[in-house]
This record gives sequence, structure tokens and C-alpha cells, in this order.
Amino acid sequence: MTVITNHMPTAELQALDAAHHMHPFTANGELSQKGARIITRADGVHLTDSEGHQILDAMAGLWCVNIGYGRGELAEVAARQMRELPYYNTFFQTTHVPAIALAAKIAELAPGDLNNVFFAGSGSEANDTNIRMVRHYWALKGKPSKSVIISRKNAYHGSSVGSGSLGGMSGMHAQGGMPIPDIHHINQPNWWAEGGDMPPEDFGLQRARELEEAILELGEDRVAAFIAEPVQGAGGVIVPPDSYWPEIQRICDKYEILLIADEVICGFGRTGNWFGSETLNIRPDIMTIAKGLSSGYAPIGGSIVSDEVASVIAGDEFNHGYTYSGHPVAAAVALENLRILEEENILGHVRDVAAPYLKQKWEALTDHPLVGEARIVGMMGSIALTPNKEARAAFASDAGTVGYICRERCFANNLVMRHVGDRMIISPPLVITPEQIDVLIERATKSLDECYAELKAQDLL
Ligand code: PMP
Repeated sequence: MTVITNHMPTAELQALDAAHHMHPFTANGELSQKGARIITRADGVHLTDSEGHQILDAMAGLWCVNIGYGRGELAEVAARQMRELPYYNTFFQTTHVPAIALAAKIAELAPGDLNNVFFAGSGSEANDTNIRMVRHYWALKGKPSKSVIISRKNAYHGSSVGSGSLGGMSGMHAQGGMPIPDIHHINQPNWWAEGGDMPPEDFGLQRARELEEAILELGEDRVAAFIAEPVQGAGGVIVPPDSYWPEIQRICDKYEILLIADEVICGFGRTGNWFGSETLNIRPDIMTIAKGLSSGYAPIGGSIVSDEVASVIAGDEFNHGYTYSGHPVAAAVALENLRILEEENILGHVRDVAAPYLKQKWEALTDHPLVGEARIVGMMGSIALTPNKEARAAFASDAGTVGYICRERCFANNLVMRHVGDRMIISPPLVITPEQIDVLIERATKSLDECYAELKAQDLL
């Protein structure tokens, strides 16, 4: 067998990658021509590629490496757990210490009566659990007709058939037979792109009231739950107007609709609290978690469920679960990650140091001719690129053309900043220092300048 290592020439690794590896969310034919960038190591907020470049990862991987890369403690815990009990399930009246300890810790951290955890291997799986759990909950309460879940356009809840249906990404729905039945999408609270002449607060109320309209239209006896990310992440870090969430909460309370907060990105410190629901003052019945739960060091996700919902579900066998629900190695790694977040007061660092500093620098990017609004909550931010700030105009080119050019400039300048359409987004490791934030902003500004020059040269402005 050929041994493939970090020491092989980049071109050879790229050729093997192109020949055998199908990348997610990628036009693989196009990538094979270009060759993927090969990441070989990472430490703190930095990645190293096979050519020896040091890249500042302003996305924390896929919004997940909250404690930063290179924490050896997690590797040690994983090795210890693999030696002691590498695997066992929790299906047939058995359990194990890592799952017990992690569930108890999550219950301690989660607000209100969110004291029960159903584990999954990822955020997508956890949202699939949620679909089945809320429908089963209402069936057990004698209301089986309550099966519709209301979600939002441009939401992201995962890529499995169920979670992808919950999500509101039209490009995803166009492939593979989604959405499944009984998922209904209302409009998102994206004031910059869709608010027109309305003041943001009026717009926030109007978009929240679409939930009430949908409930009335579908019939109260048909609606099981509403699901949303406290701050939309993959949709472009869309921060809702302040009026939005209180109105959503009022409507869910009034019609007794279960509220599912998808905390896959917002959870575990990203917004400065343990959960985005605390930052945005939401009282969910279920929270979806993944990513920051283990800082991405091991695949694990789950649903944190209220005492009320869990007690109803406990009344029957719930015919649902995954081989890796509560996987002992992943659970042990997650627990160690939570220990680090807590004992090193990383949330305090976010609240007192990193987030205020980043906010000030990030918002100042609106001085750049290409940047319209800049939004940021804790350690997740976005800027809207625009040819005309006053008009909040979109570019004449297809959405994403300009964002892609900007992202490519960032990548060339050793900064990972992602684009969603023509919005640029960041979500750096929570441990980033002010000095590293300076570098992030410096590289972002240089990339914006280069993007601006390129747009002018290509007549795209
Ligand atoms: N929910 C949200 C809010 C997400 O951002 C994501 C992933 N980006 C998911 C769910 C799906 O998580 P996973 O990729 O672990 O399945």
C-alpha cells in the first residue's frame, strides 16, 4: 500500500484528492482542475498548508473550533477513553460514564428546565431527532395532527433529508427531493437585503408576525413547532432587528407552539453566553447543539430538551437513535472541551476582551467603499458588499460573484473568511487575541482593497 503523508508533494496529494475524494458542497469537477488547498497542521487560530503558509482561520473551521486548535488535553482524554472503553451504545438499557457526565454537564449549563440530552453525531442528526421528537410529543399528547414545523427561508439546519428540509436553502431543496412534507417556510428577518424602506424594528415585527399568519393559515391544530437559529449563521450571519425575537416568543407562547433554537453555531460561547438563546432572550423548549460542544475535535451533537417535553417522550418507547449517540470518546472529548471553556473563562474573554475589540474594528470596515452594513454578535460577524451603500444595492452580477472574488483575495492573503452570496462572514476561534484581531482586520482590508480594484478592472461595480 502506498503510504500517503504530509511529506508528499502538494501536486501529488491534490491529484489523489481529485481522483478519489468527493468534497461536500463543492463543484468537484472544477475543484479537480484547480486543486484543493491542503491543510496539514493547526495551532491556536492558525492553519498551516502543505506549502508552509500560515493562514489565520477566521471561520474556526466550520464555526466550530471555539477553544482554538492544538489543545493536547483533548487528545489525551481521547486516547485514555479509547483504551478504557472505545465504544459502547446506550440503546438497550446500558449507559456509560462519558455520556452520563456530559449529559449532566450540559444540563447544568443550559438555561431553565432544559435538563435532558438526546445525543447525536452531528447537528444534522440532532435536527432529524427534533423533527421526530416534536411530532411524537404531540402524538403522545393526543394531538397527532400537529405535525407541521415552521422554519425560515435561508435558514441552515443541516444537510440530511430531514434537516435539509427544515433549512430554507433553495439550492439544497432543488436537489434530491426535499423538502419532506409538513415543513413550512416563512421569510427571514434580513433587513439589509429585504427591508426596503421600512425601519429595521418595524421590519423585524413584520417578519415575526409571518409566524402568526402561518399558524392561522395552517391551523393551530396542525402546527407542532417553530425552529430557528438565534442568529442565522450559514445564511450570512443575519442579525435580526431587536424587535424580532420578543415577538416570535410571544407568538410561540400564545399558540403553544414548541420553540426549537438551533444553537449549533451560537452555542458554547460564540455570542458571549453559553447559548445564543440567553443573548437574544429566547426561552426554547429544545436546543440543537453540535460544533462548539466539542470544539470540532470529535463529531458529536444533540438535542437539549425541556423537562416537560422529555417527560412526555418518556411515556413511550422513542423508536429513534444512532449507533454513535453519546459515543464515549466524543463525549469524553466534549466534556474536556467544556472544562477548558469554563476553567479558562473563555466566555469572559469573549465578553470583556475579544468581542468588544472585534466589534469596534469590524464595524469600522463600513468606511471601506465596498462595505454596506457590518453586523456582529459576540464572535460572529458579517459585512454586506455593495456597489451603493445608500441604496443597499445588490451587484448586477449573479449573487456570489463578488463575494467569491473577495474570498479568493482573502485566501491568497492567508485569511479564511467565507462568503455567502455577496456577504463576507467571520466566526473566529473564541480565544483570538486583540493582536490577532488586528491581523485579521489588516488582511480583510487588504483583500477588500484588492477585490475593489478587481471589480473596477472587470467593470463589475
Ligand atoms: N444547524 C446549524 C445552525 C448549522 O450551522 C449547522 C452546520 N453548519 C447544522 C445545523 C448542521 O450541523 P452538521 O454539519 O454537524 O450536521
